[in-house]
Amino acid sequence: MRLKVLVDLPRHSRLDPLLDYLAPEAWPAGTLVRVPLGRREVCGIVWGPGDEAASPDGEGAAVALREIAQVLDALPPLGEAWRRLAAFAAGYYQRSLGEVALGALPPDLRELDATQLARRLRRSDKLDRDAAKAAASPSADPAVAAPLPEPSAEQREVLAQLAAMPPGPVLLFGATGSGKTEVYLREAARVLEAGGQVLVLVPEINLTPQLEARFAARFPGRRLVSLHSGLTPAQRLQGWLAAHLGRADLVLGTRMAIFAPLPRLGLIVIDEEHDPSYKQQEGARYSARDLAVWRGRSEGVPVLLGSATPSLESWHNALPAAEGGAGRYRRLDMPARIGGGALPRVRTVDLARIAAQFGKRAVYSQPLAPPLVDAMRERLERGEQSLVLLNRRGYAPVLHCTSCGWKSDCAHCSAWRVFHRSDRTLRCHHCGFSERVPFACPSCGDPDLQPMGRGTERLEEQIAELLPGARIGRIDADTTRHKGSLESQLAQVHDGEIDVLVGTQMVAKGHDFRRMTLVAAVQADAALFSSDFRAPERLFALLMQAGGRAGRDAELAGRSEIWLQTWHAAHPLYAALRRHDYPAFAAAQLLERESAAMPPYAFQALLRAEARSQQAACAFLDAVSAATLDWPEAAEVLIFPPVPAPIQRVADVERAQMLLEASSRQALHRLLARWQPVLAEAAAGTGEARILRWALDVDPLSI
Ligand code: ADP
Ligand code: ZN
Ligand code: ZN
Repeated sequence: MRLKVLVDLPRHSRLDPLLDYLAPEAWPAGTLVRVPLGRREVCGIVWGPGDEAASPDGEGAAVALREIAQVLDALPPLGEAWRRLAAFAAGYYQRSLGEVALGALPPDLRELDATQLARRLRRSDKLDRDAAKAAASPSADPAVAAPLPEPSAEQREVLAQLAAMPPGPVLLFGATGSGKTEVYLREAARVLEAGGQVLVLVPEINLTPQLEARFAARFPGRRLVSLHSGLTPAQRLQGWLAAHLGRADLVLGTRMAIFAPLPRLGLIVIDEEHDPSYKQQEGARYSARDLAVWRGRSEGVPVLLGSATPSLESWHNALPAAEGGAGRYRRLDMPARIGGGALPRVRTVDLARIAAQFGKRAVYSQPLAPPLVDAMRERLERGEQSLVLLNRRGYAPVLHCTSCGWKSDCAHCSAWRVFHRSDRTLRCHHCGFSERVPFACPSCGDPDLQPMGRGTERLEEQIAELLPGARIGRIDADTTRHKGSLESQLAQVHDGEIDVLVGTQMVAKGHDFRRMTLVAAVQADAALFSSDFRAPERLFALLMQAGGRAGRDAELAGRSEIWLQTWHAAHPLYAALRRHDYPAFAAAQLLERESAAMPPYAFQALLRAEARSQQAACAFLDAVSAATLDWPEAAEVLIFPPVPAPIQRVADVERAQMLLEASSRQALHRLLARWQPVLAEAAAGTGEARILRWALDVDPLSI
């Protein structure tokens, strides 16, 4: 008999990823198999009965019918719900089903044959038994389990509401420190009690150990596994198997974990739901948050989306229709911090006023204005810590020649190379091209090369001059390149070995610094005037989140402050921030978005193209745009003209992009569905006109 088997074919292949194979018996859909494909043997998933009517040598039969080589039936088939999720993700994000479904499996699993799988499962059984034994032993001693905190009034109210609601998406809008995690834990307990599995997503790998520890401490005796890209392939396979076999009660992971097969799924939690890292930025560009909402609906389980600064999409979805929202999610609020701790006071340094008083030079030559330096000195004297945020690593973004104006551009990109003083290199952050700093200007020979602007390295150096005696630390992508270095640096901060921490936004997320009573953003203004319409939303979230790091210690909370240096002190974003008023900020932003017909009031897709020349990339985009002219599917979709990408050339490849916008999701998807084959066809040009790569990004996060 014949079975349809799903395989992962190279992109843009004309073959359908569902291929017919011969099998001696009807293996159920979802069964993993190994099948011959060309000269290779690959992992496939049985997707259903084959096409008995089609003659093997008839039209379209590019490959003669072959036999399934092996059936990995030691593993239960991937369930119907999981296959539905994969199919939805493939359709929605316009990728092939084979790529999405097979890509969601642990890479090691795809390599195993039946014998290796059997061996792996035996080892996995043993590991699971050991883990279960280890987990069960502390629970024998009730004294070891920490006493449950008595829920606060707000938590009680939220939990009561959740218990009374039908399953569906819920936005848990709670200040940092309001006890959202405690709500997740209580909801998880309820679901575990009823025999369900719980999936918890966090934005970053770095945040998994903290949360893992909290869940493990709360649920001794329960099997908890994590799924993220920081695991070894063997660990990832082990965790995946535990989830799929139903042995794991709790699965904690980053965005990839949304595809974990969970036969008893009872709850999905998305912590910090606004975080951009839930959106995959390459390959199948899916949003794990959006898929979670879909998955929750499809499997009839509640989805808890938690944030102190929700994405405007989620906020809009949770606003009732009467208030102009979409009314799709329920919203539950927890405005107060546990223990009644005050939120940090927000102080703005008006740079325009300082410049009027002391001259612009005084402002530009120093990274921190005098009142901010004084405030940091006070912390230093009291033995408290300060955090200074600057979202730009390196010493200076550009090096330039004072006599001829030469600048450290990258030979391969339309970007500057960043000056890194620690190893005296000029490094391109886009293509990686790196060279030692030249002794003299490559253009005129003048040795006087000067840094322009400021990155974290330089900020660290300048703060050392402003605060003599302070112990200064720096955390950014450069200082945390080696495994374990972030952890050891964070430990230094926690142990009080650092007075002032300089860092990029990576330190603003999730880490609680108990003795930190000041957080300063020294160059926040850039986001106010960015061409990226989501920049203000990200800035607001970053500052609120960074502020939430400060003063977790109840005793110190009273003197916690967020400092902002700005040329636009009266800007409404900062005014809302001073009041910690996310709803006011969101209302103003949504009004702007609505009047400009932007998301969440419009749905977007971005088509990106890469070619040897900008003309070739644009010609491709023009051609595929023209192809839709007389399509009824295109009537409700606005296709903008192609433009060069924000960074036009990277690693000698020219990049262009084209935006599509529609007021309805369905209208956009009707067009995309018909467009796919046209794109593939048009991309297969020759010579100069050949498109190196193209990609559709549905619901792009930056355009
Ligand atoms: P969020 O996730 O909203 O930032 P957390 O759940 O981490 O907040 O809670 C903040 C702090 O308050 C944590 O140290 C947590 O252990 C504590 N906490 C939470 N709920 C309670 C409670 N009901 N009683 C006492 N402490 C609590
Ligand atoms: Zn020069
Ligand atoms: Zn470069």
